[in-house]
Amino acid sequence: MNRLAVVSLLALATSCAAPDRGMRPEHGRLAVAWVRHSPERIALCEQTYRAATTALRHEAALARTGLPLPLAVVVDVDETVLDNSSYNAGLVKRGEAFQPTTWASWVEERSAPAIPGALAFARTAAELGVTVFYVTNRTVAEEQATRDNLRALGFPLQDGGDAQLDVVLTRGERAGWEGSGKGPRREAVARTHRVVLYVGDDRGDFPVEGPESFGEGWFVLPNPMYGSWARSLPPDA
Ligand SMILES: [Mg+2]
Repeated sequence: MNRLAVVSLLALATSCAAPDRGMRPEHGRLAVAWVRHSPERIALCEQTYRAATTALRHEAALARTGLPLPLAVVVDVDETVLDNSSYNAGLVKRGEAFQPTTWASWVEERSAPAIPGALAFARTAAELGVTVFYVTNRTVAEEQATRDNLRALGFPLQDGGDAQLDVVLTRGERAGWEGSGKGPRREAVARTHRVVLYVGDDRGDFPVEGPESFGEGWFVLPNPMYGSWARSLPPDA
């Protein structure tokens, strides 16, 4: 796989192509291997979701009935609740770059497993009466397959409750949501719910305004395979 291919792989799920800045093929291979085979990665995910669950229980206990807005959590999808390392491993194995066509085929399979800890967290949220919103840069064309994948794993989708409430907010689904920036979608959620917690694997999954709140209301998961971080690598990285 050439350098451009590796950097393109790392650009998955972002709308901007990553610049080719010195990433070497072994970086992609090692990143995928770490995600798929290290016990530390599993431990990090479970640790993060356990801490998030503790924070969520605390918030739910503080919330009294009669609040003007119901509580919600906002989670990202890829590498936050769904594990696409199988797709990425295939790219590395075949020496291919990320391509929207191969990605769309993977999404259509509806076979991504859950990130460790994610399902228990989401179910706890539902049990506490906290709505889980999935704010993802998967496209609106990929929404049905994404819903099917999440539902098959047991993630709450409001299917049985407020069926009119759309909790899977994809890129391009509404006017103003065409970009990969998630601010407009976070604002839409905040109009109807009080968001008490965010979970993501990319800085772009968290608000850009106000103080950072990692470990309190914001919980971040590891993703060495791709992300916005890969667009700002130094030339000798
Ligand atoms: Mg993600």
